[in-house]
Amino acid sequence: MNVLLLGSGGREHALAWKLSASEELGQLFAIPGNPGIAQFATCIPSVPLTDHDAIVSVCASNGIGLVVVGPEAPLVDGIADRLIAEGIPVFGPSRVAAQLEGSKLFTKELCKAHDIPTAAFGRFSEPVAARAFIAARGAPIVLKADGLMAGKGVVVAMTLDEANAAVDEVFAMGGGVGAEILIEEFLEGEEVSFFCLVDGDTVLPLGSAQDHKRAFDGDTGPNTGGMGAYSPAPVFTAEIERRTLHEIVKPTARALADADSPFRGVLFAGLMITREGPKLIEYNVRFGDPECQVLMSRLEGDLLALLLSVARGRLAEETVLLKPDTAISVVMAANGYPGDYKKGSEIRGISAAERIPGVRVFHAGTRSDGHRLFANGGRVLNVTAVGANIAEARERAYDAVARIDWPEGFCRSDIAWRALGG
Ligand code: ATP
Repeated sequence: MNVLLLGSGGREHALAWKLSASEELGQLFAIPGNPGIAQFATCIPSVPLTDHDAIVSVCASNGIGLVVVGPEAPLVDGIADRLIAEGIPVFGPSRVAAQLEGSKLFTKELCKAHDIPTAAFGRFSEPVAARAFIAARGAPIVLKADGLMAGKGVVVAMTLDEANAAVDEVFAMGGGVGAEILIEEFLEGEEVSFFCLVDGDTVLPLGSAQDHKRAFDGDTGPNTGGMGAYSPAPVFTAEIERRTLHEIVKPTARALADADSPFRGVLFAGLMITREGPKLIEYNVRFGDPECQVLMSRLEGDLLALLLSVARGRLAEETVLLKPDTAISVVMAANGYPGDYKKGSEIRGISAAERIPGVRVFHAGTRSDGHRLFANGGRVLNVTAVGANIAEARERAYDAVARIDWPEGFCRSDIAWRALGG
């Protein structure tokens, strides 16, 4: 079967690697792809992900039997609906179901209607009521603007002044995104990401991971797209997983299926493990990046068969899926990221790094001239390793980082500190 993969990051490189291991795979295509994905796929960089007509023609001219959607934006834009209308199986939810990520209000209202544990909240379309709610609730308190804002729409305010300033800022933006604000209870605990394959009300748990959002060691510095991840997350015990499935993920899947907008794809629950148990912070409707890299490194089964069973509405609740091993991914980013950084510096040493057992280097933002590899983004490489335990995986990953010759890049030296009991 020929497969088309949409996306260009380390997440999609990891998916391409796993898809290419399937005996069912004919040819793999990617829009736009990257030099890492190009090891397994024919990349078509000329088609923008916003051009649904062009994506449909690529499917028609290459006999595509499955489209796998990596990032969220095309899903929120309705690419899955379009492909289904054309009779092309797709792994990724419809526009309506993708609102779980695209609209925080949609998700909060769904939680409220179905008693799904999440932070208590109020929604406000003008500043006076918002300020009164904040005064009544006290700090810390969390403020969120609705819509997809690439992680920039959330303020965790530690003081009332900070909270009121955030209210002013949101309403000063006016219209669109600023039109409504969500104010919610501050949840205390450890954060965890939990991934499930979902096909209507069939839910198959994949596994847990934790990531590091801050740029520098000790979880300091500015927020980033993610500087590293590991799987499994020790805090996510079998009992917490059972509760999460029963109290959060399954009721969500059922609610969407009952509303005639069944979810088909991967549901990524961002959770806070509080003293009372797991509570939902947010949903994403695709794999995390770099969490996908660690999950794929632990996956035992045939990824293509699994994704196809979701796309065809035939997912079975057999238990799969991940090896008991631990995986870790260390993100190497261009010096200056997430602020200004330069593109174009040469990267050497990837093959040497991959000679270490259990190590694989996924490309996030690279460019190749056919012979040499260059940095072409903020987050550039995901140095990923599996090991029998977190200590072994971590040692392998950092040994691999040391073999990569790229003076213009940096990484955090403490990925997975929490899992090591640090
Ligand atoms: P991203 O998808 O990049 O994580 P986002 O803009 O979708 O961000 P959220 O995931 O809802 O926003 O929140 C971002 C972060 O803010 C969370 O990962 C968490 O650390 C913190 N946060 C959000 N809501 C709460 C809450 N109610 N209590 C405590 N912390 C919270």
